Amino acid sequence: MRITVLGCWAPYPRAGGACSGYLVQDGNANVVIDLGNGSFSSMVQLFDFRTVRAVLLTHLHPDHMADLECFRHAIEGAIADGSRAQGPVTLVIPNSPKETAEALAKKTKAFRVVYIEELPWETVPLDVEVRVLELGNIRYYFLPVRHSIPAYAVGVDGSGYFVFSGDTAPMEELALFAHRADIFMCEASGLDKDEEKMKGNHMTARQAGILAEKAKAKQLIITHFWPEYNQELLKQQAEEGYGQPVELAQEGHTYFIY
Ligand SMILES: [Zn+2]
Ligand SMILES: [Zn+2]
Repeated sequence: MRITVLGCWAPYPRAGGACSGYLVQDGNANVVIDLGNGSFSSMVQLFDFRTVRAVLLTHLHPDHMADLECFRHAIEGAIADGSRAQGPVTLVIPNSPKETAEALAKKTKAFRVVYIEELPWETVPLDVEVRVLELGNIRYYFLPVRHSIPAYAVGVDGSGYFVFSGDTAPMEELALFAHRADIFMCEASGLDKDEEKMKGNHMTARQAGILAEKAKAKQLIITHFWPEYNQELLKQQAEEGYGQPVELAQEGHTYFIY
């Protein structure tokens, strides 16, 4: 399994950067989790957009989905000119906020929309209730998380186990869900001083570290950075929580799980 960062900033990118986007490659499938502002440009710098099998959106905030519109045009064009023979891309999204979800599901030849809330429930280790989607021989788990709108953490269970927090406040179930994850990619939206401000909505870097330590995650990569913050300070606070070295997500960087 390979995970490539397309974008790591929020809610707006640094110069030349992009907001939330991650390419997961496993079992001959290219699956993209989130497609925020600028991440389509990252995608086409790194690989052919025509090869995307599915796009999974953790939630419908612009920094996680703004470039879906670019992608839609690109896929419609590729289907029309015959360069994408495999047809529509599977687009997996929450069904709310209703207006945004319905706008995405409106008639387009680019997407086959699947609502997360219509996927079957399953209990996965350690006794966590998640929605499950199977694509090829890879299983994708969706755990409802704590954010200002309905949002999900995503687990990818294939040749390794990868967990992405999406946007969320710290929560016990996420630590159970990320148990022994080979890579836990976790949002770290703020510094210690932001803890009160982020309550119920986001995590500080330290909280991400503490959660990863509880989860006994094998590797913690923090992401979803406020563009004005000193990343070394975020890293330091995350490491104090985790008790081990932490990596900062870097655009264009690929992380391997063997
Ligand atoms: Zn959000
Ligand atoms: Zn966000």
